[in-house]
Amino acid sequence: MALRPPRLPPLPALRDFINIYQLKAKKQLSQNYLMDMNLSRKLVKSAGHLEGATVLEVGPGPGGITRAILERNCRRLDVVEIDDRFLPALELLAEASVGRMSVHNEDVMKFDVGKLWEEAGVPKSEWIESAPNLHIIGNLPFNISTPLIIRYLRAMADRTGPWSFGRVPLTLTFQKEVGERIVAPIAHPQRSRLSIMSQFVAEPKLLFIIPGNCFVPAPEVDVAVVKFLPRDEPLIRAPFELVEKVCRHLFHYRRKFSFKAALTLYPTDLAEELTHEMYRRCRISPQTLCTRLGMEEVRDMCYLYEEQCRRIPGLFLFDYRKPKSLDELAAATGALPRHYRFS
Ligand code: SAM
Repeated sequence: MALRPPRLPPLPALRDFINIYQLKAKKQLSQNYLMDMNLSRKLVKSAGHLEGATVLEVGPGPGGITRAILERNCRRLDVVEIDDRFLPALELLAEASVGRMSVHNEDVMKFDVGKLWEEAGVPKSEWIESAPNLHIIGNLPFNISTPLIIRYLRAMADRTGPWSFGRVPLTLTFQKEVGERIVAPIAHPQRSRLSIMSQFVAEPKLLFIIPGNCFVPAPEVDVAVVKFLPRDEPLIRAPFELVEKVCRHLFHYRRKFSFKAALTLYPTDLAEELTHEMYRRCRISPQTLCTRLGMEEVRDMCYLYEEQCRRIPGLFLFDYRKPKSLDELAAATGALPRHYRFS
């Protein structure tokens, strides 16, 4: 029978930790500490069953959530923290964890989780199996939460990095409004590009809201805890960058007809014809607002745009803000990864 890892020895209270190590929050790193251990425990509990799990924590700071993860008897915990002022405090936690925890003083935007787990010999699961006992958890800095979730969703869609190990769930915090955008259904006022990008690859759930005044210093907004479970199959079977491009354009004008936004996908001389083709063949009214586009409609638009990109070399690289000729773009298409070359 596997031995249970020991529980944490007594440690100074989190508030004392912050005073001892003089960990005054830095605004430019979006540092807002969650000081209430009950809330840190609630967040960690909502990630799922962590007994024996392998966990990656993003932005541990002084280590409140880190303690809550270690308390749940995970097998292995890696924390990625960019600010080296936290290292002594985190190393103390690592010592108390008796070999279970490692600290990585790195930028999570560049950190290769897949390589770390690969080198550690973490076992891989088939995608169709239930979620493996691997978790990514973090009270994210607000300034990187959207680029980081897009980076993670791309890896999830491509089944690379941590998602080459199976359907690893993510439990992360966002500004409340961003959390609401992530889970917004059709016609919801917060429906946005992020809703489609999150929901086509994963099933995001907004689990609970943490009032801003529970953090030190208190941000001006409340915070949403969102859990993402990767889908068995994405709802749109097209390359991630293509879905992202179509969504970026469709949600460009929130209050105008989506048709007007879709025109920007194409060079001016082809725009009317190709946008009409898209709306006609997808059976969508040109007067539909982007917030009223359902997942199936966006899916059909992505498939149609993919078909147009195959037919018209260079179209995928067209950017209406820096227009270049399709011939020039077609020549550049050769440098793209194979699944973005289309023609
Ligand atoms: N987890 C702690 C808590 O809940 O009290 C701190 C949360 S604080 C909102 C975000 C943390 O992420 C800070 O410790 C900050 O230094 C760290 N951070 C900011 N940008 C980062 C990056 N690019 N890579 C890794 N950590 C980062």
